[in-house]
Amino acid sequence: MHAGEYTSRMSVEPREIDLLITGAAELATAEGDGLHAGERMSEISVRAGVGIAVHAGEIVAVAEDAELERKFRASECLHARGGTIIPGFVDAHTHPVFAGTREEEFELRTAGSSYLEISEKGGGILSTVRGVRESSHEVLVAHLMMRLDRFLDGGTTTVEAKSGYGLTPDDEIKSLEVIAEAARLHPVEIVPTFLGAHDYPAEFRDKPSAYVDLLVEEMLPRVAEGKLAEYCDIFTESHVFGIEDSRRILTRAKELGFQLRLHADQLSPLGGAELAAELGAHSADHLEFISDAGIDALAEAGVVPVLCPLVPLYLRIEQEAPGRRMIDRGLAPAISTDFNPGSCYVQSMPEVMTWSALRLSMNAAECLTAATLNAAASVGRAKRVGTLEAGKRADIVVLDQPSHRFLCYEFGRNAVSAVVANGKIVRDRLGSKA
Ligand SMILES: [Zn+2]
Repeated sequence: MHAGEYTSRMSVEPREIDLLITGAAELATAEGDGLHAGERMSEISVRAGVGIAVHAGEIVAVAEDAELERKFRASECLHARGGTIIPGFVDAHTHPVFAGTREEEFELRTAGSSYLEISEKGGGILSTVRGVRESSHEVLVAHLMMRLDRFLDGGTTTVEAKSGYGLTPDDEIKSLEVIAEAARLHPVEIVPTFLGAHDYPAEFRDKPSAYVDLLVEEMLPRVAEGKLAEYCDIFTESHVFGIEDSRRILTRAKELGFQLRLHADQLSPLGGAELAAELGAHSADHLEFISDAGIDALAEAGVVPVLCPLVPLYLRIEQEAPGRRMIDRGLAPAISTDFNPGSCYVQSMPEVMTWSALRLSMNAAECLTAATLNAAASVGRAKRVGTLEAGKRADIVVLDQPSHRFLCYEFGRNAVSAVVANGKIVRDRLGSKA
């Protein structure tokens, strides 16, 4: 037997791997490891009869089913039953560490009260702050674990998670330690963000500059020293942190090694987007009231606009972020839930996609790119997650829908039939075969 013959015989032996996913009508994904802007957001790969091979937590091949079945022998198989395979969603803006909910406040809003009226009466963020301060680490971890389960139910495999309901040095650190513990225990990947500048706590309402001093002099250095957050975020708005205070806090954060993100131009055109661009933030979020100059500034600085289109619905505000105009201008928006107990009690990225289509005039491919690759880029993860390509972490969703277009088209039913996170099957309505 010639050596070459021996090699070719060896090469037809299937490789042993952990998992094979086949039987899909469609596999849809953006491709690449950085932001997709403008027209590129629509240029996703949509292929029929294509599946995925997974081993050791990574995608090892994306190819036609017959080729995968020839090349690999898997210890577990998922048959997609004519559904659609997409990347796990990346939710780039959430506030999941809280105790207590705000359903009464929701009804005040449906009866006509505004966000600011509720906040001025001690509701809003400050009512959740009381709940977090009174709750133990263990209770907060238990709540967060339950919420992470719900993210997975909806196909979300990476979540950016903010503190911001403690608003004392110890309670902010407690919140970030809760995030760190849940990240160790749960299959959802968590990106931790410090949001001590979410609001002024009640005890600083009459001396807000003292709270800014506390943030800059004590809280940020302690969070940095404990390596408890990758990002520093801030609520830049005229009733909370104005442009000058925001610049001071974020500049200090940057010096301490944090990446930056901002709640910007959500309720008024204050110039938060311009500040995000000036400071080289990774993201500027909300942006319902962004100015044309703000859009230009984000485009020039390459900042990701993270749009939260369900929030104006919850706040009963007519103004929407100009998602269509941003894409036409060459920006690369991400979309997210902004899951929180007050202004958006929603954890489902498909519902965000439908709303982005209907209200922001984004097409199905743009919505998918915004909910996966661009969201991953906004949290510094685009080289690892956000697309289905060999070498990326195996975060995969199987839908019971025949095409990715149904994600926007069908509203209000969970179409996720299986979820793979970091190479492991963590949700399965398909009946996987060992
Ligand atoms: Zn937020």
